[in-house]
Parts: sequence; C-alpha cells; structure tokens
Amino acid sequence: MVNTRITGRRDRRLTPEDLAALRDSIHEQRLFREEQVRQLTAAPPRTDPDPRASAARTEVRTEPAASARMVLADVEAALRRLAEGRYGHCHLCRRPIDRAHLMIVPQARYCARCRQVREVAR
Ligand SMILES: [Zn+2]
Repeated sequence: MVNTRITGRRDRRLTPEDLAALRDSIHEQRLFREEQVRQLTAAPPRTDPDPRASAARTEVRTEPAASARMVLADVEAALRRLAEGRYGHCHLCRRPIDRAHLMIVPQARYCARCRQVREVAR
C-alpha cells in the first residue's frame, strides 16, 4: 500500500485516485461556472436613464459572460474526455499532460509544450 503510493507520486501519470479527485473537482467547476454564466447573463437592471451608459455597461457585462462560457465549454469537454477515457492527454500531440498541471487546471486540453506554442502563435 505504502509502496504503490510512493510509485504513484513519482510517476507523472494519473492514478485512479487522481482521476476520481479530478472528476469531483471538474464537476464542482461545472456547477460553479453554470451559476456564473446564469448570473452574468441575467437581464441587467434598467435604472440608467442614459442609453450610452447602459450600452457601455452591457459591453462590460458581456465580456466576463463570454469567458465564463468558454471555461464552461472546456469543463464540459473535460468531462466528456473523462467519460471516454481520453482524459489527461494533450489535444494536439496526444502526450500525457503533466499531472501537476491537471491538479491546478483540471480542464486543461494541452500539454505544457503545446500551450506555449499556442500562446506564442496568438
Ligand atoms: Zn501537446
């Protein structure tokens, strides 16, 4: 028991315990993001008499809603990968994603190298 735990720690691949913990955390993340999207897309209060001011406010509100939706889409994609047994592999190069990174960003799609390439390309 102790031995398998030590090997599990040294190994960068995900253990069944890791996967269970990540699944829980992704489910929580989904609930949180769904709620966030609901709140951000709720109709803004119409108390402002100046139409230009309300237009600016709408713009400010739309941006976080869009990024929350993007994260939600990532989270849902991660749940699909978990269900299909493809979780934890880079979407581009198919190499396993670093375990430490998945612990921080459970919905990560890309390995460290592909992430860097994408950021430089942006
Ligand atoms: Zn990759």
